[in-house]
Amino acid sequence: MNKVIILPPEIINQIAAGEVVERPASILKELLENSVDANADDVKIFVENGGIKSIKVVDNGSGMSAEDAEIAFLPHSTSKISSAEDLENILTLGFRGEALASISSVSKINLKTKIKNRLSGFEIKIEGGKIVKKQEAGSAEGTQIIVSEIFFNTPARRKFLKSENTELRHIINTFTNIALANPEARFELWHNGRNLFTLPKTRDLRERIRNLTGGNFTDNSFKINYDGIIKINGYAGLPKIATKRKITQIIIVNKRAISNQTISAAVKEAFYSTIPHNLYPQFVIFLEIDSKKIDVNVHPRKLEVRFSNQQEVFNAVKIAVKSGLENALRKEAGERFPDFSPKFRLNNFRSQKIFPAKNNDYKIDNAVSKTAVKDSMSFSKEVLDKPVKPAQESLPWEESEGTDKTFETDEEHFQAFQLLNSYIITTNGRAIQIIDQHAAAERVAYEKLKREVEEKKVEIQSLLIPFEIELNPQERLILDENIEVLKNFGFEIEEFGGNSYVVRQIPVDLKKADLNLLAKELLVELANSAGNEHNICQEIKEKIITTLACHGSVRVGDKLSQLEIMNLVKNLKKCDQPYSCPHGRPIIFEIPLSELERRFGR
Ligand code: ADP
Ligand code: MG
Repeated sequence: MNKVIILPPEIINQIAAGEVVERPASILKELLENSVDANADDVKIFVENGGIKSIKVVDNGSGMSAEDAEIAFLPHSTSKISSAEDLENILTLGFRGEALASISSVSKINLKTKIKNRLSGFEIKIEGGKIVKKQEAGSAEGTQIIVSEIFFNTPARRKFLKSENTELRHIINTFTNIALANPEARFELWHNGRNLFTLPKTRDLRERIRNLTGGNFTDNSFKINYDGIIKINGYAGLPKIATKRKITQIIIVNKRAISNQTISAAVKEAFYSTIPHNLYPQFVIFLEIDSKKIDVNVHPRKLEVRFSNQQEVFNAVKIAVKSGLENALRKEAGERFPDFSPKFRLNNFRSQKIFPAKNNDYKIDNAVSKTAVKDSMSFSKEVLDKPVKPAQESLPWEESEGTDKTFETDEEHFQAFQLLNSYIITTNGRAIQIIDQHAAAERVAYEKLKREVEEKKVEIQSLLIPFEIELNPQERLILDENIEVLKNFGFEIEEFGGNSYVVRQIPVDLKKADLNLLAKELLVELANSAGNEHNICQEIKEKIITTLACHGSVRVGDKLSQLEIMNLVKNLKKCDQPYSCPHGRPIIFEIPLSELERRFGR
């Protein structure tokens, strides 16, 4: 066996480099962070062959003295920490003085730098960690660094590099993150002589985001804001632009882009019930947090951080995103449902709509005759042939048989009817709206129950004949653990010996539900929710409410009375989020009148 030796420093650095330098993009990240740390506000990047051939970064930052420039390439050299105390308070995140040493050990570097107002600058060349040339040199103020022939001396690592395009994609991601974190600096990115991005300085984050990600995200996103122990701002995409893949999910903590499960989970949960489970929200989120409360040195490339209080961060992010989302959805709903406000005036719709009347007759007023009738789907020729009559004082369904007269407040009249025992057709005057009755009922029930649970005022109903359920041993365990929890939702359940339980009391909205099926589903939810570290109660709560709302709601295929139809639409109007059911499926499909006009060649 060989004698034990201590590895020479070049080898040690090469090993360390394995952690810092994974690919060209990781080099770019370190170089750009150094430029930003040196207070540069104009940074130009020139990349050749996806960075495999070379990466050049030119900044107008502070520059370095000759001595500093030389030391900078030694391992553990940094100008950014000088004492153990500083370590606690590294505002600019994670200086370990490792990057330049690591990069230089696996590539060829040429650095030119000059401090402002000095007469001359300095140039140094390093290959595989060894200085091959250094000299005084003319140079612009700031620093220019060229890193080329990455992994020239570690062929094994070189083999792991992917195609030029893949590496370029990573480069662009890195560039995007850093440019987003620093909107007040100007950036240019060039690839093989072609300009990919030129980003002017801006104070407007939205403008920077638009320049980097394009209009779709900025045009369909809402602002996030939170001001507490943690400051949060940024933008998140509306549910309608949620995607199957995580396209734009950018987290910037104290100006550094990181990935972080806690934050991603909090955003996802804020979107709970507004997007389907298999889709991801898009967001660019910025956190400012006391640097004492995070550890940035948990990842060699500083791609992750650890928060001293995860729950605090989770809650803050969730609240910030959720309130932004709710505002945005309310605003959108207000725009789409202008007549959903209680102030809705009868005359308003009389002047423009069709009224389904008894005998399948349709009464039409002047204004509507031109568009709505012919636009609508299946009105008979007979109807079209009828002379236009002025609208009558009372509404058709008030007169028709079997209509419940309790639904009668003048201001809230609107038209709605059911088709195929599944869909409700109504209008807001600008579009024909087709509502999925089950999804709508679910949404209404979900929001009602949620409110009731939060206020601890769940409307309950005692069962005259208690309902008996049989459970298997696993289900029993889950139920035993959750009998108290279920009380908050209006359930009174008791053990009945063996595997049997009796349900004595349920939330009133569930009186039509299949309790057996519901119980099984609830237990699955309760079992799945166990062991989730994030806000366990809230999550279970949401899931239970979603399940209950689903079971208590009218189904597709249920015939509804006119009163039920009207109440459903009326209650949907009052929902915070009338556009998607708690599972994230859409509720309303709209055909704008303009679309009908187009199709009918008007
Ligand atoms: P760290 O950034 O953790 O301090 P690096 O190895 O990335 O370690 O850089 C070492 C030092 O080199 C920095 O602390 C800084 O003083 C100096 N430096 C690196 N790049 C630049 C630059 N573009 N402009 C000015 N100084 C720089
Ligand atoms: Mg650095």
